[in-house]
Amino acid sequence: MKEESREFYKVTSLRQGTVIDHLPPGMALKALEVLGIGTDRVVTIGMYLESKKWGRKDLVKIEGKELNEAEVAKIALLGRHTTISIIRDWRVVDKLPVLLPSEIHGVVRCPNPSCITNHDPVRTRFRMEQEEPLKVRCFYCERVVSKEELELL
Ligand SMILES: [Zn+2]
Repeated sequence: MKEESREFYKVTSLRQGTVIDHLPPGMALKALEVLGIGTDRVVTIGMYLESKKWGRKDLVKIEGKELNEAEVAKIALLGRHTTISIIRDWRVVDKLPVLLPSEIHGVVRCPNPSCITNHDPVRTRFRMEQEEPLKVRCFYCERVVSKEELELL
């Protein structure tokens, strides 16, 4: 099989759903976790696959689900080179840019124990401080949170 047709098969092996590609290696299960995907869906996972561009990557295919904006934002926080493709009838109909938003609402938990968002029913809100390495700032307590401390809701 030619390289081209193999690539084609990989994408079209999903009838309808979402392909999350170029996740940083080891992030596939985390991606499913942050999307709240349990055992009710058909999911295909590839881990530590070879990637021409980035060395190693993870890949996740989710049957019957198209990601919404908030879900795309969560995935964006996992890795900068990630791509999201929406598949319908075996074909890629949309390729969503996984850009980091300038503000993040309700996706990340604030690690500051005395932050109001950990006590009152307030939706968390962060502003982007720096993209690489990732740093966000809590709108309420001003705490700067690095990628290592990030806990996705
Ligand atoms: Zn805070």
